[in-house]
Amino acid sequence: MTPVRIAILSDIHGNIEALETVMAQIDRDDDVEGIICLGDIIGYGPNPTECVDLVSERCDWSLMGNHDFGVVYEPTNFNPGAAQAAFWTRAQFEAEEDGDKRKKRLDYLMRLRVRVKFGPDDSFLAVHGSPRRPINEYIFPDDAINASLKIQQIFERVEKYAVVGHSHVPGVYTNEPDFYDPNELKGHFTFQEDEKCIINVGSVGQPRDGDPRASYVILEEEGVTFQRVPYEIDPVAEKIRAVPELNDWLADRLYEGR
Ligand code: ZN
Repeated sequence: MTPVRIAILSDIHGNIEALETVMAQIDRDDDVEGIICLGDIIGYGPNPTECVDLVSERCDWSLMGNHDFGVVYEPTNFNPGAAQAAFWTRAQFEAEEDGDKRKKRLDYLMRLRVRVKFGPDDSFLAVHGSPRRPINEYIFPDDAINASLKIQQIFERVEKYAVVGHSHVPGVYTNEPDFYDPNELKGHFTFQEDEKCIINVGSVGQPRDGDPRASYVILEEEGVTFQRVPYEIDPVAEKIRAVPELNDWLADRLYEGR
């Protein structure tokens, strides 16, 4: 089996400061062999075009998230604030004067895949939301306690391991069912022979687990390590507040990680 050491990012949401900080951290980690992104490159944040450029340049591939879909196709199940942000985001892509650049970015977004198998023997499934409904379904920590049928049905779609984003809450779900917070795991989870698991990598650009630092993971053959990186929130918040179509709450929540 080929050794794996892959950085997995998700939910960047147009936050270029967070994305650049994460990329710099990855570059300091010599042994990373690849970078993949689980979607929601854009939506909510003030620098969508820059984030698409950096992801397309640095990541081996990315998935389609509900916000990527919402911007290039249709905002499905979006609240009014999120829909307004999606239309503003679309306008940023359309405002590009260089026709080739404009087409290249939109093509990149429109061709993002929804499900990808990767890793040794294709043993990992990557989706943005859930293995059952790849773009839009959320898996929440409480589901392990309150929605065991949902978790069971989701695990029926997982051969062995899956990686997801979407909820912006990092951690590990097992088919027990159980949920493990990265803190209680002391940042590392080792795969068990007799257990399936779904790893949520957290969010680079809009964490919602009470920790404002950017979140991503390093995946290896024997397990997964959760990473957190502080970045400069002030410039992002200022840019959000300067755009009328982006609600101020989108700036405030970055400081609180929620
Ligand atoms: Zn998201």
